[in-house]
Amino acid sequence: MAGEGDHKISEIRVFPLVQRLPQPTRTSWGTYDSVSILLVEVRTSSGLSGVGEALARFAPQGYAELIESALAPRLLGRDATAISARWADMRRALSGRAGGMLIEAISAVDIALWDILGKAADLPVWQLLGGVGRSHVPVYGASIRWGDDAQADADVEAMLARGLTDMKVKIGGPVEAACARIARVRARAGAEITLTADANWAYSLDEAVQVARALETHGYAWFEEPLRPEDEAGYRSLHRHTSVPLAAGESNYTLDQAMPLVRDRVLSVLQPNVTRSGGITEARRMAELAAMHDIAYAPHVGMSGIVCEVASLHLGAAMPNTRTMECAASPNLFRDGLADIVPGHARIENGRVAVPNGPGLGLTLDWDAVKELAA
Ligand SMILES: [Mg+2]
Repeated sequence: MAGEGDHKISEIRVFPLVQRLPQPTRTSWGTYDSVSILLVEVRTSSGLSGVGEALARFAPQGYAELIESALAPRLLGRDATAISARWADMRRALSGRAGGMLIEAISAVDIALWDILGKAADLPVWQLLGGVGRSHVPVYGASIRWGDDAQADADVEAMLARGLTDMKVKIGGPVEAACARIARVRARAGAEITLTADANWAYSLDEAVQVARALETHGYAWFEEPLRPEDEAGYRSLHRHTSVPLAAGESNYTLDQAMPLVRDRVLSVLQPNVTRSGGITEARRMAELAAMHDIAYAPHVGMSGIVCEVASLHLGAAMPNTRTMECAASPNLFRDGLADIVPGHARIENGRVAVPNGPGLGLTLDWDAVKELAA
């Protein structure tokens, strides 16, 4: 490893990307025909480079502008390997409470800095994190789409055909339709399959209590985001009314936001997304907070891209409380078109994904493919 200070940040390149989905995906929020993300490449004076990704569901060009105007001037010429210091430098771009686009943009740069640190040390990120060192991370299929029954049945069959034994069902309103879907998917999937349900904040507290009863009846393993993320009192009340484990965390930006429901053990599963929740630095803190409270860690990936998936694999490999990682079962060029996780091998084998072993993230992006998806 080169001496301290040799890896100065010399350039930050931004790549706002957008793709039309081959098949629309539907949640209780709406139907998505296209998705966007932002990729970054950070380069150092020593000749190293790292890649990162921000969750940027809209206006990815806005994220690019934020990084170039507000973050890059705080980073250029500084030590890329002092990651916590660089995180604090970026945080100072905003004097108010942390959240939103700023933390998503910080996430991208943070992930790239971990990639650089791994390359400088010639170690994979999972090893830098000093954790338990799994070679594979168990995954669950996401998601059986909300909408018509025939589509949902086809989604169940497709996941079973891929050998997935753990899968997530999207649900929404009205309550009666959600309860019917909960029963239908259990009947189609069979008793041996692990099922979870994700409402994307569709319900009032009273509605969530009713839906939770159906989930209890049909043996679902968690109820994800039943209520809007700010409604902490609602989550506490729902927790007292049901035995179904509650899951949330993809809407959190920082450790502070994850803290109350973890500390009080209202949640059973914490699901930060590394491209929203402050990158590897802050998502790791969240996973460790959950571990301190005997709460499971289940990285959220959703419609994100390959850098999100690989960074989540490294975290999932390292954290002691990893239960399972979200793995999108539907086609997504941000994931399937930009790189192979383990070149030449199937992505999901026996319900799990291999963790890359190369230095840093162990990921080589196809930059021509990246440019073809430019927003
Ligand atoms: Mg979700």
